[in-house]
Amino acid sequence: MGHLERVRSIGRDEHRRLVAVARYERSVFVSRLLGRRTRVALTIDTELGWHDADALNASRLLDVLAGEQVSASFFLTGAWVSANPDLARRITASGHLVGNHTFDHPPLRSLTEEEIRDTVRRAGELIERTMGVDPRPWFRCPYGDGADDPRVRRVLETLGYRHVPWDVSTKDWLEGQEPEAVAKTAIRGAIDVGDGARLLFHSWPDATVGAMPQVIARLRRAGACFVRLDEL
Ligand SMILES: [Zn+2]
Repeated sequence: MGHLERVRSIGRDEHRRLVAVARYERSVFVSRLLGRRTRVALTIDTELGWHDADALNASRLLDVLAGEQVSASFFLTGAWVSANPDLARRITASGHLVGNHTFDHPPLRSLTEEEIRDTVRRAGELIERTMGVDPRPWFRCPYGDGADDPRVRRVLETLGYRHVPWDVSTKDWLEGQEPEAVAKTAIRGAIDVGDGARLLFHSWPDATVGAMPQVIARLRRAGACFVRLDEL
């Protein structure tokens, strides 16, 4: 093999290697990722408004979603809606789905049936009065507590609600949580679950606002489309 031939052959080998690498990366990052219309539901829970950054971060989060034209699903507590009525109305005006997250975020198994009815009903009424939408049947148990409890489920059912679980918890609420870690958990989780993945976020942590643009951009690049829970 002459010098020129050898150079060409090395070039060819290098080219082949790069093609193989690209193919491998595609198989790992794209096809394993998401098919063309893989639906991902971003679900965002609000809580009690005890964090300083609560309203500010919720508003930033709404800005990010609006800028990216992404519809999400929000589970709202009555306490949050009463503290942030304008933001609450912005959620419906922006086309997001609204669910009930109780009035004051108690673990439901610790309550009597009457108390469960009370906290759920009060939140539902306030949401409807403030935002003009009936949140039924969308409901999320605070902490997921009681989701599998027959008593809790029965009470929710009689009120016209059902608990919506999540497939991926981004753990965005952890103290000192980094946006990059939240984004990574969300993206990897969505990939593992595939079509219909429901990701859990909260409206108040700094890390959520920081992570959301990356979550949207990277999942979109992989072929995901973002839908509300009623589109699953
Ligand atoms: Zn919650």
